[in-house]
Amino acid sequence: MLTVETVRSWLSLFIEKLEKNEKYLNTLDEPIGDGDHGANMLRGAKDLRGKLAEGLQAGLSELFKMAGMSFIQKTGGAAGLLYGQVFLHMSEAFQEDTNLLDSLASGLEGIQTFGPTELKEKTLVDVWIPVMEDIRNKRLTLDRINEHVISTKDFQAKKGRAAFVSKQLNGHIDPGAASCGYFFEAMLEAGVY
Ligand code: ADP
Ligand code: MG
Ligand code: MG
Repeated sequence: MLTVETVRSWLSLFIEKLEKNEKYLNTLDEPIGDGDHGANMLRGAKDLRGKLAEGLQAGLSELFKMAGMSFIQKTGGAAGLLYGQVFLHMSEAFQEDTNLLDSLASGLEGIQTFGPTELKEKTLVDVWIPVMEDIRNKRLTLDRINEHVISTKDFQAKKGRAAFVSKQLNGHIDPGAASCGYFFEAMLEAGVY
């Protein structure tokens, strides 16, 4: 269910997963990027934890606004802007009465503010879109999220830094897809879905 409590634990669990997997996300970013995705995400996550602790009265829209500002201000690289726009767009969606799927559709628009990203271009979109499809079909599970993350191994990067080293890409999970997987695992575990 989508409530202030479940969304709060959604974001808190996401923060925990980013902390726990910082090194792993950096490692994923080494062969196809610059090895900083975990460190980048952690800075935003830590800042958000502080904001969550202070903003105890925040509603849904404000919670995602805090998340958006943390990632835009503290997370470097492409991911900071991408996740920042995702959360700010979700925040806007929650200014009105909305549902989970529509708010995620707004989040996807946030990603697309950097230009159209298609499926199979080795980005977080490769997790975001299939997860939306699974929610629509009422079949989202932790296993399916994991499968979507792993599917990025075989894709050829067309966006961001990884596109410049695309020859070496096969067999590597996209780091942004992996962090996005944590976001949706956290969503399931928080009972939002
Ligand atoms: P940087 O590449 O600046 O070091 P990060 O390592 O934090 O930034 O993030 C890299 C991730 O960002 C990639 O794994 C990919 O998922 C995502 N990404 C990069 N560019 C785009 C884009 N245009 N659209 C969607 N996702 C993107
Ligand atoms: Mg990087
Ligand atoms: Mg970088």
